[in-house]
Amino acid sequence: MSLLEIQDLHVSIDGKKVLNGLNLTMEKGEVHVIMGPNGSGKSTLTMTILGYPSYNITAGKMTFSGTELNSMPIYERAKLGISIAYQTPPEIRGVKLRDIIRISGNKPLWNPQDEPEENIATPLLKKVGLNPEQFRDRDIGVGFSGGERKRAEIAQVFAAMPRLMILDEPDSGVDIDSLKTIAVDLGEYIKEQNCACLIITHYRHILPYLKPDIAHVMCGGKIMKSGNPFEVFTQIEEKGYCEYLGLCPPGIKEETERGMEI
Ligand code: ADP
Ligand code: MG
Repeated sequence: MSLLEIQDLHVSIDGKKVLNGLNLTMEKGEVHVIMGPNGSGKSTLTMTILGYPSYNITAGKMTFSGTELNSMPIYERAKLGISIAYQTPPEIRGVKLRDIIRISGNKPLWNPQDEPEENIATPLLKKVGLNPEQFRDRDIGVGFSGGERKRAEIAQVFAAMPRLMILDEPDSGVDIDSLKTIAVDLGEYIKEQNCACLIITHYRHILPYLKPDIAHVMCGGKIMKSGNPFEVFTQIEEKGYCEYLGLCPPGIKEETERGMEI
């Protein structure tokens, strides 16, 4: 039985069809890369796997270790071991970073009387290269740089100890040194925990650390091609998406010519 199995998935948001017959199978411990032009449905796929109610499944089926996900609420999916780092992590005023990390790990909020030294969020913040003294007590995302937000998100994902982590452009807006820190941590985590990872990226920098098994290229709400990640990246860098895929639906050409999201 596969860890994640998605068959002929069709999804609409506010009546707009976004996913159009997507198929994807992941086994335990596998690392899959998803690429594709802006607007091809990559983030929609991640939000649908996690179970956001506004992402309306009109056809198809998703299972996780054989359990059907389609109508399961988000918190049940999180309990099964699915965790996501969002493309655009939210700012939440009034909630401390240390507390969301503890909640992600199913731990009670920090009470200095029971636990003189905070010992759940602190090591995870260190692990992702954020100084706990400076970040622990800050409101989530508020005033964080792009890279700091991404690292704080990954600390929450690590806290959840997922069986499947979904990372939506973890490398966007992150400087090259931080990128290496994040990539090394992710690579170690995947190996140690035998965790499966679905990673959306436009760049190859982190691939050597994550050792992906396969790359998929999405366009128009479905996976159009799959192959060896390094070969797929090389071809797309040379040819661009339209020529690589051998098609160019309306809207896609203009998007790719304008450049990728940063
Ligand atoms: P990607 O992550 O591949 O860039 P997305 O999955 O974010 O693409 O978006 C796919 C398409 O769905 C886009 O055309 C986008 O405008 C549309 N879309 C995403 N979210 C919404 C929404 N909440 N309401 C309406 N359209 C949406
Ligand atoms: Mg996206």
